[in-house]
Amino acid sequence: MTTGAALAYARHSLYNECEQCTTAGHVHLTVGSVYLELAGFNKALDSFQHAHRIAQAIHDPALELQVYVGLSELFSRLQDADKSAKYASKAYDLSRSLQLGDLNSRHHRAALLQMASALRKQGELGDAHDYCSPQPTEVPTSWFQEATRLALVSGDQATYARSIRIMGDIYRKKTDINKAFRQYETAMGSAAAMGDRVIQMESMDGAARCLEALRLQHKICNCRPLEFNTRLLEVASSVGAKLLVRTVRMRLSRIYHALGDEDQKLHHERVAFRLQQDLDLMCGGCGSPYGLESDSLEALPCAHILHARCAYDLFRRSKKKKRSCPECDRTSSRLYLNCTDYNPSYSPVPLSVCSSDSHCTSHQATSSV
Ligand SMILES: [Zn+2]
Ligand SMILES: [Zn+2]
Repeated sequence: MTTGAALAYARHSLYNECEQCTTAGHVHLTVGSVYLELAGFNKALDSFQHAHRIAQAIHDPALELQVYVGLSELFSRLQDADKSAKYASKAYDLSRSLQLGDLNSRHHRAALLQMASALRKQGELGDAHDYCSPQPTEVPTSWFQEATRLALVSGDQATYARSIRIMGDIYRKKTDINKAFRQYETAMGSAAAMGDRVIQMESMDGAARCLEALRLQHKICNCRPLEFNTRLLEVASSVGAKLLVRTVRMRLSRIYHALGDEDQKLHHERVAFRLQQDLDLMCGGCGSPYGLESDSLEALPCAHILHARCAYDLFRRSKKKKRSCPECDRTSSRLYLNCTDYNPSYSPVPLSVCSSDSHCTSHQATSSV
């Protein structure tokens, strides 16, 4: 099913279902995930919020867990590794504290993998197995290896391919480019066999980054990266992943520059810039973009995203009850669900509220929305 068809189907289902049942919750979750693929971050946040509200109302922890996994992925794409890890840890804590059992082990694997991925992005994977586990033996290998093992045992192809891809990321960070490339190749093959274009695209992006590193080290010429990125551009465009399309266009522009083709260089640069404007990743607080490099972010209940510092400024400056979103003017007294436990009486607000120091204290099963 194409993403457009999925959205249409989801909207249709919503009209035919009650607003407060598991189905409606899962439809909102699906809509959120589709928007996430399309880089519609505000709409994704809004849908996840609906799903979360239903999950809380009908006490559906499996649904709540999936919302956290989605939010972790969203902030990961917007390059806020801390917030991504925070939501991943909520998902993981939920899967563990509720002992969802065999029936929901798919969610357990998803939470575990998201956790491993988020920790990897925080650059902490080396000691991920120590991660606030009261009994270290409980997670004998790293979280990541555990997720991969569970995926293999249960024949969960999607999680397996995703794990292999993340393993590629880890080797790439350790600058073992050849090993990383082999991982991405395996993941690409597995994703292609399943017909999963999103995992295929993510794996191809990893491989393209390897080729870029080799190209810049003059270990390979420009031909292969050029051919590979052109293919990736097609896949990413077909999925509608605008943020990745922008990245690939910028990469292509650098390759064409190295080849001395200034026309093509400018063309890709221009399209990338137009995409960036389309994506509208502009902070309403300071007017500069977010999500293009790593930074701390916050969202408001209206689903508008700001730099964390700009959001805290807003809360600090405004009088109580008059904290309105700079984008839509909606007033709110809190941040987006579970973003931060913002305490209005506490001032000044430290900029690192969302740092990972909360890892070991967030074992509560319920959220505070
Ligand atoms: Zn800002
Ligand atoms: Zn707003």
